[in-house]
Amino acid sequence: MSGFVFSQKPIEIESGAGPYLTDTNGTQYLDMGASYAVASVGHGHPAVVQAVKEQAEELLFVQGSYPVAVREALREKLDAIAPGGLDNVWLANSGTEANEAALKFARHATGRSKIVAANRGFHGRTMGSLAATWKEKYKQGFGPLAGDFVHVPYDDPDALAAAVDEETAAVILEPIQGEGGIRPASTAYLERAREVTEEAGAALIFDEIQTGLGRTGTMWAHEPAGIAPDVLTVAKGLGSGLPVSATLVADWIAEDPGNHGSTFSGSPIVAAAAGATLDVIESDGLVENAGTVGGYLKSRLEELEGPREVRGDGLLLGVEVKRGANRHLKHLALDHQILALPAGRTVIRLLPPLIVSETHADETVAALAEVLE
Ligand SMILES: *Cc1c(COP(=O)(O)O)cnc(C)c1O
Repeated sequence: MSGFVFSQKPIEIESGAGPYLTDTNGTQYLDMGASYAVASVGHGHPAVVQAVKEQAEELLFVQGSYPVAVREALREKLDAIAPGGLDNVWLANSGTEANEAALKFARHATGRSKIVAANRGFHGRTMGSLAATWKEKYKQGFGPLAGDFVHVPYDDPDALAAAVDEETAAVILEPIQGEGGIRPASTAYLERAREVTEEAGAALIFDEIQTGLGRTGTMWAHEPAGIAPDVLTVAKGLGSGLPVSATLVADWIAEDPGNHGSTFSGSPIVAAAAGATLDVIESDGLVENAGTVGGYLKSRLEELEGPREVRGDGLLLGVEVKRGANRHLKHLALDHQILALPAGRTVIRLLPPLIVSETHADETVAALAEVLE
């Protein structure tokens, strides 16, 4: 993930509430990056804080082999929002681990090893997920990574079809590439990915770690394409900052519980945070809000003079600028108290909490207009 540090004037954050972060000098910032899409329901949402407090007093941890109500409730909530057929819920502690599980399960279920991933894709930084990640910079010096991964151009149905064969265990894709520059896949591409994996008997894995849980205006970014994957991974916005991720898996790929696991996965405390976060997303209509406010923000961004292109859906938007994005991000933060993120060298990435309003969108556009001049 691309870091962003202000060398001369670091911003030291002390507290957060809703879409705002406050630094040690009392300056308030509008967090239009949701701290890497994590603060999906805003910072310090009272319902999440309360759930964590109550759980902390009751039970911080017990080994995963004992069923605990709060963890079972989270599984059920995830099952309820999972795409059709993905009824098996595996919990883990981070995005990259959710993808490791996905890759392991696909290999085990198919008895094959080849994984097809996309150029510009990002899937995490542990040895397997890193092999699926595209950018050389992330991989240099860490080899050999997990083997038998190939990369093909993104959003190119024919290139994907040509790469998938009887030796393919899985295709792993982001429906909208996040780190790769906010690049949405066409419906035709996702449909073709579904077709060719089904024909070859390979698993289709959608990495919705950044795009999932309502961010794009639908629960899952792939939903409008009208297809379902065999495996779906979710993380960033799930636990309001507590380390929790999930791998949602179709029956034919599901593993026996003894075949994979991790000591901390789905611990009571993170399960409480995730359960409360999912409840807020539902009760406050945040999927719909992401669609409405995101659509408004996108149309306002498209009116700006400076950008080459505005891409994305809902509250996952990329503004492609002519020169380096980091300079603009610094001005946004220091002169306008708006925190956004880069996605590659030339893209300003906006992925605010799903609770933002049109007023926050207007503030951001007004600041960007000045910064891009
Ligand atoms: C952030 C991200 C990951 C990795 O998640 P971590 O929690 O940082 O390991 C994987 N895939 C996508 C699409 C991501 O955005």
